[in-house]
Amino acid sequence: MTGMSNAIERHARRTRGFDARVVHAAALLCEAAGDHAGRIVQVSSLGVEGMVLTDLLARHRLPVAVATLDTGRLHAQTLALIDRIGQRYGIAVEVFRPAEAQVVRFVRRHGERAMFESVARRRECCALRKLEPMQRLLLGRTAWISGLRRAQSGERADVPFFAHDAEGREKFCPLADWSEADVWHYVAVHEVPYNELHDRFYPSIGCEPCTRAITPGEDARAGRWWWEDAAKECGLHSRPEPTAT
Ligand code: SF4
Repeated sequence: MTGMSNAIERHARRTRGFDARVVHAAALLCEAAGDHAGRIVQVSSLGVEGMVLTDLLARHRLPVAVATLDTGRLHAQTLALIDRIGQRYGIAVEVFRPAEAQVVRFVRRHGERAMFESVARRRECCALRKLEPMQRLLLGRTAWISGLRRAQSGERADVPFFAHDAEGREKFCPLADWSEADVWHYVAVHEVPYNELHDRFYPSIGCEPCTRAITPGEDARAGRWWWEDAAKECGLHSRPEPTAT
């Protein structure tokens, strides 16, 4: 914490409809867990939304695996949450890492700062460190759960609660209609552990070289790949036309 205010003090607010949004999110998770028993996973980036979802899963004792991608470039504060989830909820987070040989080859060829060279190079790094491990993470699963919210950015403004991903798996976004105030209010009420970088003005946390703090008034995704003009996404959430509900 910085001595000023922490993320809870800055953002948590109880607003109209909060309880209904929590009930709806929990109901969606129950339904998803029931429909995809043993074949469903929460893909958590260990950001605050992911922590809220893990808390909901644990609170309702839903048999859903929790997995994350360790790209090899995460902050120590992010990695520390894996153990905290184990301690708090008794959940062993499944960790998927990129193929070592490919990473070594890429870094040898393009250097540690390749992502700043061009959008293409950055996407190559994301493909190697995120998309390929994500394929393995989803292998054998018929559904996954994500913490995307509509209010996070313009690109996410139409996130549905339920859609099919590019490979036909069911993808659930139970927090789609939650505001930042909702997320932090939930964290405050249930004392959900969260990444301390959120206290230091990082709303969206990714790899260390590609994430920065934002200033008040900036879009929540403004701290990701800030040197690029293109859409601030890495490809994990690209999808065909949603079959919205
Ligand atoms: S976010 Fe940055 S470091 Fe992480 S995989 Fe993408 S380009 Fe590489």
